Amino acid sequence: MSLASQSSPLLSRILSSSVAVANHAGKIIREVMKKGELGIVEKENARDLQTEADRAAQRCIVSSLSRCFPKITIIGEEGEEECHDAHQQVFDPTAEIPVEIQCPPHLVSLAEEEIVVWVDPLDGTAEYTQGLLDHVTVLIGIATGGKAVGGVIHQPYYNYQTPGSVLGRTVWGVVGGEVGGMSTVSPPDGCLIVTTTRSHSSSTVNDAIDALSPSEVVRVGGAGHKVMLLLEGKAHVYVFASPGCKKWDTCAPQAVLEAAGGTLTDIKGVQIPYHASAPHRNSTGVLASAAGQQHEVYLAKIPQHVKDNLKA
Ligand code: AMP
Ligand code: MG
Ligand code: MG
Repeated sequence: MSLASQSSPLLSRILSSSVAVANHAGKIIREVMKKGELGIVEKENARDLQTEADRAAQRCIVSSLSRCFPKITIIGEEGEEECHDAHQQVFDPTAEIPVEIQCPPHLVSLAEEEIVVWVDPLDGTAEYTQGLLDHVTVLIGIATGGKAVGGVIHQPYYNYQTPGSVLGRTVWGVVGGEVGGMSTVSPPDGCLIVTTTRSHSSSTVNDAIDALSPSEVVRVGGAGHKVMLLLEGKAHVYVFASPGCKKWDTCAPQAVLEAAGGTLTDIKGVQIPYHASAPHRNSTGVLASAAGQQHEVYLAKIPQHVKDNLKA
């Protein structure tokens, strides 16, 4: 590691390492798909899957970050047992040229013990197994004091249907700082595009969407992918009135979205807590709006019975 990067604030170094390790996890995800041996396992139910790509990507991210930052708390989606591999080679993110990420003044003197990293090694697993590859993201979210403060969203298959272009993209953001890796775009005026789940719908999920009277509903996989649509100006709001989404799904997307000027809360407008002891499940749903949107206006339109249905 260069002297300059060693003297950068801890948050900048963790984010910079997370960019490198997310890129490497993306390579692993593509290699597993190329080999075609997905090793699919059902977790909670038949709609909740884990593949060898989820396991191998988590192994890579957790081992690399914990080697570089031994005192941070890392919470990954996949169980540690399934992800154990005695022969694994640890990826060294500090061997890469670091991206320079500025840290806002109030976050410059954090200690490792104050940091919780929420890792979704592969968001959009159902879509990955179905060949909807552009729905897949790698999510590394950094929290302190229970708040999402930094995040990395890597899209391993960005551009995969555009021959001759660079495959994959990594976007990062620091709340109160900037977004890197992409140029954000505002969604169009004069219409309302709502994005939501394609594989975890329910009547409550649909009631919340109907109440917004959208001109278009974009049903795609992955929390990371849906927040990318908000950042790309392809949707105004992401609504998920269901308890299925977890902290590792929302921490990184929330930080990047808030860095861009957007907002992500639960469906009642309450901040999602990201302490190490916080329950994994976002049991009161998710509502996220793009920069420039009036988050409170969308919250106010969510029917009371939908809000009452989602209990903490
Ligand atoms: P989706 O929008 O359906 O792609 O979901 C976003 C994230 O939340 C993905 O990581 C899903 O696996 C997770 N998720 C949402 N609903 C459920 C559910 N009912 N059971 C398990 N995981 C869920
Ligand atoms: Mg996920
Ligand atoms: Mg996942």
